[in-house]
Amino acid sequence: MSRDPAYDILFEPVKIGPVTARNRFYQVPHCNGMGYRDPSALAGMRGVKAEGGWAVVCTEQVELHYSSEITPFIELRLWDDRDIPALAGMADRIHEHGSLAGIELAYNGMNGPNLYSREVPMGPAPLPVATFTYDPVQARRMDKTDIANVRRWHRDAVLRARRAGFDLIYVYAAHALGFLHHFLSRRYNDRTDEYGGSLENRIRLLREVVQDTKDAVGDTCAVPVRISVDELIGEGGLYKEEVEDMIGLMADLPDLWDVTIAGWENDSQTSRFAEEGFSEPFINGIKRLTSKPVVGVGRYTSVDRMASLVRKGVLDLIGAARPSIADPFLPKKLEEGRIEDIRECIGCNICVSGDFTQSPIRCTQNPTMGEEWRKGWHPERIVAKTSDKPVLIVGAGPAGLEAARALGRRGYPVMLAEARRELGGRVALESRLPGLAAWIRVKDYREQQLHQLPNVELFLDSPLTADDIMGFGIPRVVLATGATWRRDGVGHLHTRAIPIEGGAEVLSASDIMAGRLPAGGRVLVWDDDHYYMGGVIAELLAGKGYRVTYATPASEASTWTRNTMEQFFIQKRMLEKGIAIRSFLALNAVRPGEAAMACMFTGREERLEADATVLVTSRLPNDELLTALNARAADWADSGLESVTAIGDALAPATIAHATYAGHRFARELDEAPHDGDSLPFRREVTELLKA
Ligand code: ADP
Ligand code: SF4
Repeated sequence: MSRDPAYDILFEPVKIGPVTARNRFYQVPHCNGMGYRDPSALAGMRGVKAEGGWAVVCTEQVELHYSSEITPFIELRLWDDRDIPALAGMADRIHEHGSLAGIELAYNGMNGPNLYSREVPMGPAPLPVATFTYDPVQARRMDKTDIANVRRWHRDAVLRARRAGFDLIYVYAAHALGFLHHFLSRRYNDRTDEYGGSLENRIRLLREVVQDTKDAVGDTCAVPVRISVDELIGEGGLYKEEVEDMIGLMADLPDLWDVTIAGWENDSQTSRFAEEGFSEPFINGIKRLTSKPVVGVGRYTSVDRMASLVRKGVLDLIGAARPSIADPFLPKKLEEGRIEDIRECIGCNICVSGDFTQSPIRCTQNPTMGEEWRKGWHPERIVAKTSDKPVLIVGAGPAGLEAARALGRRGYPVMLAEARRELGGRVALESRLPGLAAWIRVKDYREQQLHQLPNVELFLDSPLTADDIMGFGIPRVVLATGATWRRDGVGHLHTRAIPIEGGAEVLSASDIMAGRLPAGGRVLVWDDDHYYMGGVIAELLAGKGYRVTYATPASEASTWTRNTMEQFFIQKRMLEKGIAIRSFLALNAVRPGEAAMACMFTGREERLEADATVLVTSRLPNDELLTALNARAADWADSGLESVTAIGDALAPATIAHATYAGHRFARELDEAPHDGDSLPFRREVTELLKA
């Protein structure tokens, strides 16, 4: 197959200063939780992006000096020459596939509390460090010597980056993450010298650093500038008209403008809060300010939209972080005329949670993300089957669907049986909840792929019993039967069932998703789960006219969503919908018409009037089949049954990303050397020990 000519425009080369991108697909810098701790794993991940056709593949932000590090976050470092080999390895992986390697050098300034180096952070003003965790550290105001020093350190790092083999060396002034952004924005810059006040003064340092960088690299590397066109806080911070003037003043100085919104949480909004292309109003019009190419993002997964952005003259290069994570082979698939094979990002930000939890990046849609080097998993290639024994998969949620897809690709005969009349399991149900519609892509992609696999048979409306399974005589059985939300209140805080008096109306999240609604008008949503479900159900009920109180033992609504950068948006929306949010509470009992709550600190009880209580606390695996089959283990051999394996939520409930990973892992490991638990099932790197 060859590509549709409508997309030819996306495959035109683009000159970026002295280098040329072979097409318009540009993987912008993105964090990944691997950084300096896992350099080879990170290089493997970036290499796969290049192989998948992204013409430019960038690092995440790279700390350029020890006096500005952002512990506990794990990013790359280029503090001195010893860091060069790790970065050179990554540039090599990118070059192997004919792509350009970009590096985003960052001097975090006031964003880094310097907990590791213990240096005093610096910024334009003497302000508390701008971190997510309110660290009790203040930055000091940079004087002229500090400015000269940081410029020199930046230049030194530029030279190291060039030695490491990078083709694009960024000057990073975006996202409110780093000293250059802080100098640009009135929010942080209160200076009265030539680096503060007027627009010309506030851009002085950026202009100087760009010039330093260009002088250092000559015509060997391109120098992009990454800048935020709006901080979304009005004229107290950067706003579009002002930043357009800034860009106008520096129009052709950099080789590329990479435009974003600030902060990161605004730039990487989830599908729950922003549509594809949400940043377009901010990117629009930038191109007329410069003759240099412009790249921007917007969680673009529609290739028609991408082509039209170029045609309309909005962008020269299509920037992507998340779409390139969900499908590293997006450009290649388009080039080969295989649009339907593109695995579209669902906009959930589980990938972002890797950075926030300092763990290797993971992705709901792409279970191989982060595992390219660690486990040797390639997103498009999988080893062929080594036996012809068929596999029966019970349950077509994310775990069962992904197991079927990957086993199907390996060539195994697969039967996938689903009790309901639709595929998707939890994603089919959850995608009907407010804001989660895009999550159905987890099912859509896999359904589409399964239709291409003649060796996979689908059986809908097929609730299987242990008798059925024993009767089939299929040797391998995979139970991907999912989990059910509990109705007894057991969760993170309450590890034993909550007393529920007779006559009290109590529903679970599963009840709500099955279409049951509370009878009374005043509803308590009790969230001891802390991810999205409690907030989403409160939102659903408020939308249906219930008077909703949301209560949680945590300090805020949906607290784990800090890791997906959604917490602020969730709480804002809940408050705007009139939901009362109560924090730091325990739920002592549920009685008819009321809930007995208690302060987490003092234990003081209070009665909360509620006609019904919805408990969103935890789930129990649907393990009836497993138990029944295990009880008949003695008969397995006669029935031709060899193994029964529970995977995904049926083994232990977790995220959807966990379920697709579990399905994929089962498929990868079937008939391969088993992991006995005595050795590591993944590769890792160990810190070099120096003699004392
Ligand atoms: P996971 O996230 O682990 O994939 P889900 O809850 O999304 O789990 O999906 C489990 C699926 O399994 C649901 O669609 C459910 O209808 C199906 N299922 C559960 N028990 C059976 C059964 N006995 N026979 C067939 N399908 C089942
Ligand atoms: Fe998209 Fe979610 Fe994957 Fe991130 S984790 S790339 S948001 S599907």
